[in-house]
Amino acid sequence: MSIAPSDWSAVYLNAHLATMAGPGGAPYGAIADGAIAVAGARIAWVGPRAALPRHQAPEHDCSGAWITPGLIDCHTHLVFGGDRAAEFELRLKGATYEEIARAGGGIRATVMQTRAASEEALIAAALPRLDALLADGVTTIEIKSGYGLDTESERRMLRAARALGRLRPVTVKTTFLGAHAVPPEYAGRQSAYIDLVVEDMLPAVAREGLADAVDAFTETIGFTPDEARLVFAKAKALGLPVKLHADQLSDLGGAALAASFGALSADHLEHADADGIAAMARAGTVAVLLPGAFLVLREKQVPPVAAMRASGCRMALASDCNPGSSPAVSLTLMLPLACALFRLTPEEALAGVTREAAAALGLDDRGVLAAGRVADFVLWDVAGPAALSYWLGLRPRAVIRGGAPVRR
Ligand SMILES: [Zn+2]
Repeated sequence: MSIAPSDWSAVYLNAHLATMAGPGGAPYGAIADGAIAVAGARIAWVGPRAALPRHQAPEHDCSGAWITPGLIDCHTHLVFGGDRAAEFELRLKGATYEEIARAGGGIRATVMQTRAASEEALIAAALPRLDALLADGVTTIEIKSGYGLDTESERRMLRAARALGRLRPVTVKTTFLGAHAVPPEYAGRQSAYIDLVVEDMLPAVAREGLADAVDAFTETIGFTPDEARLVFAKAKALGLPVKLHADQLSDLGGAALAASFGALSADHLEHADADGIAAMARAGTVAVLLPGAFLVLREKQVPPVAAMRASGCRMALASDCNPGSSPAVSLTLMLPLACALFRLTPEEALAGVTREAAAALGLDDRGVLAAGRVADFVLWDVAGPAALSYWLGLRPRAVIRGGAPVRR
């Protein structure tokens, strides 16, 4: 599908392009002295400026900037009530886990504050976090539920997430994560809670069209692989794709489990084994790496990046913005963290927040600069794309979303 130059609405030139057009070509899919033509909300043409067809559209001089695809944060828990900064401070002053739990801390505190918050209050609390991520060049974001843990509160979280996409220039993909933790009223009755997730929450969320995917947290402190299978089987029956919090603190075979359901992604994966990674590669399940949580939890076990490379498993990168283990409100910070902590190359890191992040969300209309894709892209004042993985917390010069400059 090509769009005739007579239908172009704008042309961006005097720029270098990191198209991220996939393996096989130049590193970063780079085009020196390139140009991008936009028609409405879509990219109409990408190539070297010397090959730009004749056109009448207005031209924007990018004065030598590098242009990347709009950044995609493919794993966040952006919507929640309260935060846990006071608990963080207590812990650093020496409080024990039990003392914090007695003071009402931990995920339970977030669940209580989320349940107590109206939809408007959840939106108001999330907006500053979202704005920080947007200022990094994020144009698409995934937001999970999972702090309501009852049908009404989970639906309220997802409605708040959808509303954020109407309030700001960003595409929001929502994920239902009812199987995140056992709520206090189900303490000691974990399988009864899974029944509620499967029989009540999932059908309600699907009926209202509130979720684009379904996620579960498998861990010795979370749900068992068999419980995740029940959730996934129901999700599949409702026509919803699945994702999994897998093998973060121990190897429960989460990578292979996700692959067996053809999951869009398996996330964390610090303790995943090589067979599980190979199964993910065969299934096309993307590995989402989350260096923010690794850093904050002071983990030692690095995800098996070498096995991912060897098997051809795709690697994405996300902020995991959440109030407990990764209070990260920057996606660009995750690039240097992934390089420093996990030894990703700068090109892998940039692919991880563009092309591979799109795949982790099941989106094939974005993540690369190519004709026909959504016209989401970001201008950076850098000498080359490796700079995005070098600076700790780089911010872009300008963001174009849906073919139009984002005003800040
Ligand atoms: Zn998470």
